[in-house]
Amino acid sequence: MVNGARAATKRGRTMGEKIKIGISRLPRFLACGQSVAAPEDTGEPAINPTGPAAAMGRAVHEHMAHRVLGDDDATTNFAERYGVDQEEYDALCRRGDYLWETLLPNHPQAFPEHGVSVSIGEEIELQGVIDVCAIAGKVACIIDWKTGRSDRDPWAQLAGYGLAVARTLGREIEEVRLSVGNIRTGVAEPPERFTAADLDAFEAEILTAVRRRNTYVPGDHCQGCRRQFTCQAHLEMGRAAVAMLTATDAERIAETIPQLAADAKLPDLLAACSLAEKVAKVARSEVRRYVDANDRRVVQGDREIVLAERMRKKVASVSLAWPVLKEWLGSQMHEAVTISLTTAQDIVGSLAERGQKGKAKAALLAALNAAGAVDEIPYDVTTVRKIKEGATNGTD
Ligand code: SF4
Repeated sequence: MVNGARAATKRGRTMGEKIKIGISRLPRFLACGQSVAAPEDTGEPAINPTGPAAAMGRAVHEHMAHRVLGDDDATTNFAERYGVDQEEYDALCRRGDYLWETLLPNHPQAFPEHGVSVSIGEEIELQGVIDVCAIAGKVACIIDWKTGRSDRDPWAQLAGYGLAVARTLGREIEEVRLSVGNIRTGVAEPPERFTAADLDAFEAEILTAVRRRNTYVPGDHCQGCRRQFTCQAHLEMGRAAVAMLTATDAERIAETIPQLAADAKLPDLLAACSLAEKVAKVARSEVRRYVDANDRRVVQGDREIVLAERMRKKVASVSLAWPVLKEWLGSQMHEAVTISLTTAQDIVGSLAERGQKGKAKAALLAALNAAGAVDEIPYDVTTVRKIKEGATNGTD
């Protein structure tokens, strides 16, 4: 037995045992084989999703499972069980119920939370739990509920579910229809249809990824990877991003953009900017903490860093300042005063009775609208997305 195999065996996996990949991790695995490395093989700590967003996702998924079954537990309040915000949970469940009603005609005899496990090649076993699966003749319909804010492309994950179902049921399945029910936005996208040939091509793609599974490929997909804070390749990308940006002459950035565009490097530049911003923010706050812990002064050769306290003036009471400003600024008030609509709505929501938060926020917005006090201002958001290849669009 070679050393690596012995180490893996000692840490958990035995020789010949397949590598188990959760289908939800498949999209990242296709981009970077190392993203599914087991913590016991890398010696890194295991990081599992926790926090309010993950708990909310579990609560709403549980509600939807009972809704799909149509059983009595569909009215159970899972918000209490998972300790999540009741109002948000209620709103998401309402949207989920609506989506289910929209999708139901296409998915008779559906069963929720369907566990699948299938071998791909000699070394990989894909495992997952499909939110909704229904078989109608030679067609398998699959729905994946999304409750988070992620704009990650969901189709590789869905294709993984489709592949697992088709391979489990064998030759009977000629087509899988994959639907995403985005509960947060209340939108169900038209199903993607995968034929047997599409699934064969997808399986070949997975097998190619298996062959390069020992390779680190850092990129946008590192966001959300359970190894992102421990993986040297990702940390190195952060260092390189900082180096690239600091080496750039600020005066000449605009001149370099067309060349980067011609080299198809603009997405890399944007990724580098995001990473550099994050790294710079953490670095600045850590330096400040270090200096603070050292009596607020650190000497470095002939330079020193001092944490100095400065005072800035701030309006302490808006209600007291209001009449004074009105008198002095008159029609120019809007130049000096800005109002956060989100904060105003949050306050009105927090003052409302339980279960009435959403309505109270909407009522405030309606009142401000009626007074002609609200404007809609367009703004641009830059996002980098992968362009889907090979899949065909279709509607039921
Ligand atoms: S952090 Fe990025 S490079 Fe590192 S294993 Fe995860 S996906 Fe791969």
